[in-house]
Amino acid sequence: MTRPQNASTPAKLIPNLGLKERNTFGLDAVAEFAYDISSAEQIPAVMSDIAKQKLSWRILGGGSNVILPSTLAGATLLMNILGQEIIKADDEAIYLSVGGGVIWHDLVSWTLENDLPGFENLALIPGTVGAAPIQNIGAYGVEIGEYIDHIEAFDVKDQAFVTLQQDACRFAYRDSYFKQHAGRFIVTKVVFKMPKSWQARIHYADLAKQFPDNASPSPEEIFLAVCKIRTHKLPDPKVIGNAGSFFQNPIIPNEQYETLLRTYSDLVSYPDTPGKRKLAAGWLIDHCGFKGQRMGAVGVYENQALVLVNHGGGTAQDILGLAKCIRDKVHDKFGVTLQIEPNIL
Ligand SMILES: Cc1cc2nc3c(=O)[nH]c(=O)nc-3n(C[C@H](O)[C@H](O)[C@H](O)COP(=O)(O)OP(=O)(O)OC[C@H]3O[C@@H](n4cnc5c(N)ncnc54)[C@H](O)[C@@H]3O)c2cc1C
Repeated sequence: MTRPQNASTPAKLIPNLGLKERNTFGLDAVAEFAYDISSAEQIPAVMSDIAKQKLSWRILGGGSNVILPSTLAGATLLMNILGQEIIKADDEAIYLSVGGGVIWHDLVSWTLENDLPGFENLALIPGTVGAAPIQNIGAYGVEIGEYIDHIEAFDVKDQAFVTLQQDACRFAYRDSYFKQHAGRFIVTKVVFKMPKSWQARIHYADLAKQFPDNASPSPEEIFLAVCKIRTHKLPDPKVIGNAGSFFQNPIIPNEQYETLLRTYSDLVSYPDTPGKRKLAAGWLIDHCGFKGQRMGAVGVYENQALVLVNHGGGTAQDILGLAKCIRDKVHDKFGVTLQIEPNIL
């Protein structure tokens, strides 16, 4: 179990901090001032400094879902609040409190080592625990929102610490109340509710294929299978810069889906809420001929059309230029508008 740092220490201020190693696209970016936030108690003084100096500001977790400009003017808050502990248990669940700066995948491994299954489908998603609720991270049929009991955050608008229960977080596909109110909440702690009854969730085709003769694999077996699939399918940001899926899977009305299906019988899609269908954005991009294409220093990953990559030396403008070409082509061909998933800071 890790412990948070001494709360009374003021946040460390670092001028001109290079962020190339702290964003998975590997973009060359410099933060004019960075605050190293290692405890929640440091935040009110930091925000008061920022307000007094009328600085622009933003939050940076692990940098795995952001597109950074070359200079981040004003203040950048580096979320490094650590600590994880089991705080209570009842008949149904065990409650786990985790600091916003804990690395998500480390937490997944820790929960399995401590016999708290549930997160195994979400293994190897880069980034921090505090960022996980922002876009309600999800993979292989599981979203983090379903495991969240409540979230503690600093509300910048009201200059006060707040607690948001799960239903107030309005989790949806790659969406949450925090994302809808970007720049208002600084997530300091997430309290997870881990149900005592556990069931394998391997209904996603890629995952099911890993267990042809085993309908009830253990959490550890699922964890290993997810790690294997992801390592094979997604580029390692340490080797080639990327932010995972660059576009959200578009959700369209059933009628529009039926029309598209008449022309494209192999269109890949998944059921969504009643009357809606979720299309595989990667399939749409691939069928516009983008897979493996390069545009200067950036391009579309050769094994997965949903992933844009920085081959080295690319800028935010390069990535957004390529994204625009893709969005325009997909719209012209299929009449579907793609939404960019990473946050443009
Ligand atoms: C190879 C790869 C694979 C990926 N696979 C998946 C996947 O399967 N599923 C998925 O959902 N995502 C995936 N992602 C995206 C990414 O990992 C997640 O969105 C992750 O939660 C981002 O965490 P981070 O700490 O890096 O956040 P950052 O990229 O630093 O920030 C993301 C956003 O959250 C805000 N933010 C960060 N921390 C806080 C905080 N404490 N309080 C308030 N706001 C905050 C930032 O301001 C920014 O707007 C993938 C990314 C990569 C590179």
